Amino acid sequence: MQVTDARRLRQLIVSPHESHSDRLLEIIGQTGTLLEGHFELDAARHAPYFIRFSQIGWKHGLVDEVAGFLLGAASFAAAPATIVCAETSAIFLARALGRKTGNPVAVAAADANRQPTGTLRTGKIAPDKPILVVSDVITTGRSLLPLLSFKSSPKDILGIVSFAVLAAPRFERFARAHHLPSAWLIAATWQIHPPSERECPGCAAGIPILPASEFS
Ligand SMILES: [Zn+2]
Repeated sequence: MQVTDARRLRQLIVSPHESHSDRLLEIIGQTGTLLEGHFELDAARHAPYFIRFSQIGWKHGLVDEVAGFLLGAASFAAAPATIVCAETSAIFLARALGRKTGNPVAVAAADANRQPTGTLRTGKIAPDKPILVVSDVITTGRSLLPLLSFKSSPKDILGIVSFAVLAAPRFERFARAHHLPSAWLIAATWQIHPPSERECPGCAAGIPILPASEFS
C-alpha cells in the first residue's frame, strides 16, 4: 500500500522546485508517505493514491527540512503573521514553520470529515497581524475557506502554503480568485475520478474504499 519505488514515485509526484525534487521524493519513499489504494476524498471524488503527511510530520528533522524548503519557495510565508491550520497533520507543518519564523500558530477545529471549521481549538488570531494559511494536502483549496474567513480582507492574508496539492491547476485558480499568493512542494500527477464504476478504476475493480480523512 505504500509506494516506495523511486521510479514510480517520480511518475506519480512532481515538484515545481527542481532543486528539492530528488530530496523530496527520497523523503516520501523512505517514510512511506505515498499510499496506493482506493481513496474517497469526499462524496464526489475518488483517487488511486493519497499523501499521508503524518509519516513525515512525526519526524522532527524531516518536517523541519520540509518547512525550510517551503520558506525558500515562498518568501511571503516568513513575514510576521499568525500561522493558521486545521487540527489535522497540517499541525506538524504549521508548528515547524512557527519554529523557523518565530510566528505563533492557531489551530482550527476540524469537522467529522477532517475539514477545517471556523472555530479555533488553540491559539488566537491577532487583530493587528496577517495570517498565513498552512495545509499538508490541498485538493482544490475550497475546504480552506473557513480558515481564510478569519480575516475579512485578502490584504490581511499573507497567502496559502501546503506540502502537497492534488489538483494543482484548480488550486492555482482558487488562490488567484482569492488574490492570494500560494506555494507547495509537490503536486500529484494522478487523476481524481467521480465515484462510479464507469469512471473510477478503483470502483470498477471493486477495491474496498478508504476514507482519505482517516489519513489526514
Ligand atoms: Zn472509486
